[in-house]
Amino acid sequence: MIMTQVKQCRKCGETKALTDFYKQSTSKDGVHSYCKTCNNAHAKRWHKENREKYLENQRRYDAEIRERDHIADTVNCHNRRAKKLGLPATLTVEQWQNTLYFFEDGACPLTEEAGGHFEHFIPLSWGHSGTVKGNVYPLQGYLNISMGKTNPFKWVKQRSEDEKDSFNVLAQYLAWYSNMSLTEFERYVNWCEQNPRTAEQIAQDNVKYGEDCSSVELYWISAMVSAIKEAGGL
Ligand SMILES: [Zn+2]
Repeated sequence: MIMTQVKQCRKCGETKALTDFYKQSTSKDGVHSYCKTCNNAHAKRWHKENREKYLENQRRYDAEIRERDHIADTVNCHNRRAKKLGLPATLTVEQWQNTLYFFEDGACPLTEEAGGHFEHFIPLSWGHSGTVKGNVYPLQGYLNISMGKTNPFKWVKQRSEDEKDSFNVLAQYLAWYSNMSLTEFERYVNWCEQNPRTAEQIAQDNVKYGEDCSSVELYWISAMVSAIKEAGGL
């Protein structure tokens, strides 16, 4: 019995009294393999390491939530702006995330720099299009300022050859969403610029053609009317 009154700690190698070990019912001799001192140090380190891991996970999680909230806020804010004007405001967080994903996680399609800002291709101030998929893309802040409310097809003519190439990719992507060729899409954008609408005019059109009538549809109606006129039909 006396022989079992002491035990060698597996950690520090010291032989200590059994009372220097914590009880552990699952072990053969009823005590821990580490002495109390080693056990405490071990527990302390484990706690510290895991607390750091825990805190790091918490930080990452918080950042993700903030990012998601930020994306949702951006989408909601631009939907509200469009809605206020009576324009379609149907962009979902998922659609905006997919758009960001398409442009390599939100990189500006023109400069390829990360962190592009939310931009409407057809400005809401023209009274056309809206906050809808196919009219939104991430644009680098300084280009955003440079472009202002200019027709993007006119704006790009002053830009570098590299930017023109990148612009074509962007325009092609947006044209595809409107079921148009690039040429047709440019014509449509020009038509929107030449036929701006005030909030009152939008409201009138919404009554006449229905709330969900898009500028693309209005453009086709107008193109059809022009074609009929040209043919001498009206
Ligand atoms: Zn020990």
